[in-house]
Amino acid sequence: MDHALVQRMRRFGTTIFAEMSALATRTNSVNLGQGFPDYPGPGVVLDAAVEAIRAGRNQYPPGRGVPELRQAIADHQRDRYDLEVDPDTDVLVTVGATEAIAASILALCEPGDEVVVLDPTYDSYDATIALAGGIARHVPLVPPDFALRREVFEAAFSERTRVILLNTPHNPTGRVLTRAELTMVAELAVRHDAVVVSDEVYEHLVFDSRQHIPIATLPGMAERTLTIGSAGKTFSVTGWKVGWVSGPADLIGALTTVKQFLTFVGSGPFQPAVATGLRLPRAEFEQQAKELARRRDLLRDGLTDVGFHVLDAESGYFLLADAAPFGATDGLDFCLSLPERVGVVGIPARVFCEDPEPLRTYVRFAFCKREDVLDEALSRLRRL
Ligand code: PMP
Ligand code: GLN
Repeated sequence: MDHALVQRMRRFGTTIFAEMSALATRTNSVNLGQGFPDYPGPGVVLDAAVEAIRAGRNQYPPGRGVPELRQAIADHQRDRYDLEVDPDTDVLVTVGATEAIAASILALCEPGDEVVVLDPTYDSYDATIALAGGIARHVPLVPPDFALRREVFEAAFSERTRVILLNTPHNPTGRVLTRAELTMVAELAVRHDAVVVSDEVYEHLVFDSRQHIPIATLPGMAERTLTIGSAGKTFSVTGWKVGWVSGPADLIGALTTVKQFLTFVGSGPFQPAVATGLRLPRAEFEQQAKELARRRDLLRDGLTDVGFHVLDAESGYFLLADAAPFGATDGLDFCLSLPERVGVVGIPARVFCEDPEPLRTYVRFAFCKREDVLDEALSRLRRL
């Protein structure tokens, strides 16, 4: 059938992550593309999921999420960030952060409303905004510092701005937005009476003593901010698809209405397991971030040694590396040929950008992999 797909979704096709993971399997390449760990999450969290299944918690959980997870999320927000959220009215458990993002945009945007996003942009944002009939306004962050600049940011706003869809720590640049940058976002949100939807899935994966600041903690922001987290990143279980969103009761109520008809509920037995995870001692979270920073160092130093020009990552799963020293003029072509040439998969950074120019020759490599896998990738890349 010609044009089975609605017009507004036609430009999206298959996600780059699915495409590149399929290419990795087909060519038996080391997959440093899609961001998922190849090491297990904390044993007690995995055990808790097995126990929940054995205990028969296999039917529909409550619509907003199981009570112990909502309580654990509320306690986490209070203990970590001094944010008071009521587990009964201010928290919604979702099928991954992806559904939290989709429910937010679908609940808050009328057709024609505008959503301000940072660029590079995580791939689900534009697609979700298009689904809602909204318009994405991209705010370019440019290398090497990817700083949020006032003139560029302000230019993205209009009288139709409804939502700022923020992402910090940021994929794919690894930036952790500073208090000064967040203050600017808060100021513009208030001026335009916009809701901030803040995707903070990498909140615990921050390196080198940097500090993640939830924008909801800034003065006057808790009442207009939805804060999104994900167990996939926090506990290295991306396949469980447990996410959550917290914020004021009226906004969470709006999201809950939409969420009912996206998935109704999800991830039943994994929800209590994630509650167990959120109650782990702080040292466990710090240990995980330290180990990830070591993997980053290994990949950064190795890629530099191979000849890439690498931008360091302050957080997250990814490094951006310029392939221009290898004669690359386009990162997409480079990434499509890399599996055949040396058996390694990366993601062309330009696919995250509205204007491909600043990152045209860059590749995003994931370092959330075992050290032997990173070593193998580096030894293959040395053949370049
Ligand atoms: N937001 C960002 C910035 C991400 O990188 C990802 C995926 N890694 C998601 C959202 C989606 O998270 P989830 O897998 O929990 O749906
Ligand atoms: N968030 C992961 C990434 O950026 C992938 C998630 C997905 O495949 N949708 O690689």
